[in-house]
Amino acid sequence: MKEIELKQFFEDIKSFITDNKESFTIMSALKNNMKVKAGLQIKTENKTGKDSKASKSDMLKFLKDVKVNECVKCRLSIERKRIVFGEGSPESKLMFIGEAPGAEEDNTGRPFVGRAGQLLTKIIESINLKREDVYIANIIKCRPPDNRNPMNDEISLCVPFLKEQISIIKPEIICTLGKFATEFIIGNDKGAISSVRGREFNYEGITVIPTYHPSYLLRNPSAKRETWEDMKKIRGLYFKN
Ligand code: SF4
Repeated sequence: MKEIELKQFFEDIKSFITDNKESFTIMSALKNNMKVKAGLQIKTENKTGKDSKASKSDMLKFLKDVKVNECVKCRLSIERKRIVFGEGSPESKLMFIGEAPGAEEDNTGRPFVGRAGQLLTKIIESINLKREDVYIANIIKCRPPDNRNPMNDEISLCVPFLKEQISIIKPEIICTLGKFATEFIIGNDKGAISSVRGREFNYEGITVIPTYHPSYLLRNPSAKRETWEDMKKIRGLYFKN
């Protein structure tokens, strides 16, 4: 390469890095496992010379694209069709956390879209919210084969992603759905889901109210009454202010 071409080549690279400085900064923060707090101001100078702030949705997108989408940390990566990262409003006060994707979720890459998901949507609507108003995620991002329960090592490897989602969204209320999500959030020493559901717990300053998983409600419709009681409590907290 001639000297003049080489010079132009380096000028082009420099200009590309300057134009994408904000993206590189966020990506680097996530790659280096920096704790990403809600409202974190990754201040960079953009093309206009003004400081800008990474939005929660930017941070979630980078977490998804950079860390989660190509993840092969556990055996569930072998048979998954699609990663199910989570969806909803990054600004939501209320986050629902379930267990793991099923077949429909694996096909679509979206959480809670099967029969249990349709029931969850109705549950959300029962407290005068829309599905898009809340954020929905699972503790496991890939489908366990034949919908078996997630194994302890799979949960341990995957939950750092959920922890980052929570620290970005910083909801005021978390509703855990079923045993696995509840045990991850409040610990496994508090008793069965039937004894902790509807009670208030605390996770890093966030109010947690466990309830039954919608799949359980499909198999045990009589438990819907108790879930309705739990949801009324969540509605009261959500609309408190
Ligand atoms: S379940 Fe989680 S840890 Fe395992 S491969 Fe999928 S994203 Fe990675």
